[in-house]
Amino acid sequence: MSTQELLNASTAVEEVADRVYAYVQSDGGWCLNNAGIVVGNDRTTLVDTVATESRALRLREAVRSLTPHPVSTVVNTHFHGDHVFGNFVFAPDAVVVAHEDCRGEMAAAGLHLTSLWPDVCWGELTVTLPTLTFRDRLTVHTGDIRAEVLHLGPAHTTNDAVVWLPEQRVLFTGDLVMSGVTPFCPMGSVAGSLEAIERLRALDPVTLVTGHGPVGGPELLDTAENYLSWVQRTARAGLAAGLTPLEIAGETDLGEFAELLDAERLVPNLHRACAEERGLAPGAPMDIGALFKEMIEHHGGLPVCRA
Ligand SMILES: [Zn+2]
Repeated sequence: MSTQELLNASTAVEEVADRVYAYVQSDGGWCLNNAGIVVGNDRTTLVDTVATESRALRLREAVRSLTPHPVSTVVNTHFHGDHVFGNFVFAPDAVVVAHEDCRGEMAAAGLHLTSLWPDVCWGELTVTLPTLTFRDRLTVHTGDIRAEVLHLGPAHTTNDAVVWLPEQRVLFTGDLVMSGVTPFCPMGSVAGSLEAIERLRALDPVTLVTGHGPVGGPELLDTAENYLSWVQRTARAGLAAGLTPLEIAGETDLGEFAELLDAERLVPNLHRACAEERGLAPGAPMDIGALFKEMIEHHGGLPVCRA
């Protein structure tokens, strides 16, 4: 199969409500994120882009197959490269919207993600920063489809936004919630993620398009909550026993969470949970490079990235 055929085989466009689509990249592992496409009468809104140039062009093709109107608004759910590197493909026609801290984090991170997986074919990427930022919330009208963009957290990062369609009861969660994939919050907060999940539950969504993994329902909130509460309890017990996060991870049986992809994220998640247990404020910076190294040590090598 050619690269393009491989990409086609691993992506799916799923209509989750009238003119509202989930763009799902399987299997949802490292850097294989999801996007959302909202098609109005005369304009289109995109929730997140994707990690590589060829994947971004593929996403643009998918939009073109749904509507003749170019993307006029891109909402970035947070600063991670897999959700924003494709911005440049849409920026000539689109306003890029994100939380105000997302812009600064994106600028600071640059293309750093590409150096973690140098073997991935990233293509010619240009970091394209948001041009419209907000603090708490913002409403995007795509024709008659209303989308509430809400800042929550610190949770997955310090600059998470979810996109909530109240009439369709569809929620694009970004990486604040995963589907069949292990949560990841060393750059945000374990406690803050749990609080954010409560806020999402209060919206009473029917359909969740998460940052990674298949489309699901509110049960995905339960899984995220169960996992993160378990990480907190495990961190607490490990600290009481005088163990480091890496030692705790080495002694911990994942149990029901073993079926979630990218289980090695337990190490950085435990680091954040232990730090919070010791009083670190949600979202306060940690040495992510060091945490990533420990995660690789625990995993026995660099986790696979299929972007
Ligand atoms: Zn992310």
